[in-house]
Amino acid sequence: MRVIGLTGGIASGKSTAADALESVGAPVVGSDVLARAAVAPGTGGLAEVVSTFGRDLLRPDGCLDREALGRRVWGDPEARRRLESIIHPPVRDATIAWLAQRRRAGSAAAVCDIPLLFEVGLHLAGSFVDRIWVVSVQPGTQLRRLMARDGLDAREAAERIALQWPLAAKAAQAHRVFENEGTPQDLRRQVVLAWAQTLEEVGDRPRTH
Ligand code: ADP
Repeated sequence: MRVIGLTGGIASGKSTAADALESVGAPVVGSDVLARAAVAPGTGGLAEVVSTFGRDLLRPDGCLDREALGRRVWGDPEARRRLESIIHPPVRDATIAWLAQRRRAGSAAAVCDIPLLFEVGLHLAGSFVDRIWVVSVQPGTQLRRLMARDGLDAREAAERIALQWPLAAKAAQAHRVFENEGTPQDLRRQVVLAWAQTLEEVGDRPRTH
């Protein structure tokens, strides 16, 4: 089974691309969803976050207050690293378990939507990712879309962008780059075509059921 790692930068259009792939039947797993599951009530992940960062990060209903946690690690690289060292291993395990399930189900290819693919080193040898697809935009477009989507001012948006690898550096190491400077429909067309080409390459027969 071919494993595609879909990535990009914040607000570059990854979710838009992942939705398009799902809409044509591609199996897609999102690490943001898995990361939320890793700190759900009752998990070892949540217990570790609370023992590391304090009980005041728990909401009255026992769920993690993600906004408060975000504020707690904001501007504190050491705290961010500690948080990542708690969350990344279970997310990685859950991704590998999901891929095993897809393999057993007979999927010829599967997509992992991993916003921080490069930052966590999944472009390096030994990774479970076979092909890296990057959704890319120009810096000005990224800033504008991030400000509009998350209601941030230019400084806040630029700070969030600066936490990640520059998009150009990601695009330079990708197997495929989708430029998202046109309409969302243009992006969808590009990724759906890439998915069809992938299925052809891996010799998957179209399913008729
Ligand atoms: P990501 O998942 O990479 O953070 P999104 O897919 O959420 O990015 O896209 C970021 C924002 O930009 C969203 O509000 C989305 O609706 C919008 N967007 C995405 N692609 C385009 C496009 N081609 N034209 C205009 N807006 C877009």
